[in-house]
Amino acid sequence: MTAKPNILVIGTGGTIAGRGKAAVNTSAYLCSVLGIDEVLDTIPQALALANLRSEQLLQTGSENFNNEHLLAIGKRVANVLARQDVDGVVITHGTDTIEETAYFLHLTLKSVKPVVVVGSMRPPSAMSSDAALNLYDAIAVAAHPSSRGIGTLVVANSEIHTARDVVKSNSFKLEAFRSPYGALGYVIEGVPRYYRRPSRAHTLDTPWSLDGLAGLPKVDIAYGYGALESDALASIAANARGLIFVGTGNGNVASHLLSTLREAARRGVHVVRASRTGNGIVLRNGTQPDDEYGWLTVDDQVPQKARLLLALALTQGCDTNTLQAAFERY
Ligand code: GLU
Repeated sequence: MTAKPNILVIGTGGTIAGRGKAAVNTSAYLCSVLGIDEVLDTIPQALALANLRSEQLLQTGSENFNNEHLLAIGKRVANVLARQDVDGVVITHGTDTIEETAYFLHLTLKSVKPVVVVGSMRPPSAMSSDAALNLYDAIAVAAHPSSRGIGTLVVANSEIHTARDVVKSNSFKLEAFRSPYGALGYVIEGVPRYYRRPSRAHTLDTPWSLDGLAGLPKVDIAYGYGALESDALASIAANARGLIFVGTGNGNVASHLLSTLREAARRGVHVVRASRTGNGIVLRNGTQPDDEYGWLTVDDQVPQKARLLLALALTQGCDTNTLQAAFERY
């Protein structure tokens, strides 16, 4: 019999660590109140999959996570992955921003060992909670050799998603996580089954590592609509090094906002056109002359992940062509 893998489960809070007053409270409950060991105690079956150790790194809703939280999680995970006695890591996390933490790890960790970020839409106390099975599945995925070398994963509702693509796309249903090109695979009865691999570069194939990284450049997001006033947009752009402008449709910019964004770019703010549709490609030099204005486009990335990609890219330089290439490669 081969030895069981050693998996470290890191708790950070969220609904998976939540508790409601009654079983009918599927949406109204307290988040981030159960310790990681209390959550793990609900799935003794996971001990058949792996040797488990746990630690409580944070205990807060993921809506609170800022750049410092991401760096703290990333540095801790990078540190434990370097250890010989750790074969994989599971991070329990609130679902609100699970895709951001997962993508940040996907772009910065330098290891082939599986890292799985997992949450739940209902707390363990609720009727038909997804907490126990999601965590069990996440441990199964992290423990399995077929999960090595494919970057950071998000496991939910029996699906395995790549961190690059997954987004939370529903506020309360169990079927909340969506990848525009589909999941990488399923988990069934404690065994992952993969059908595709991520095609964009990640982990060992990125130039970014968390070693010595003390902070991230300030990149902000502005949500576009026709009634957005130019002074409100200008104030968001005022102190940013980068600005993700979430335009309508194919990254469209209302005519009365063009001069504000062009002025920001002239001041050295890296303006990136994204789309508020949540799907599809924002084509460079399509609806706007991006070359002429010195603007960038996100390719197909959603604004919240484009923010992280641009912030990491800016840690290595600010040449427009190099920054645009990052959106096409990762
Ligand atoms: N406050 C929660 C969070 O940490 C709510 C969502 C959840 O975990 O499902 O994101």
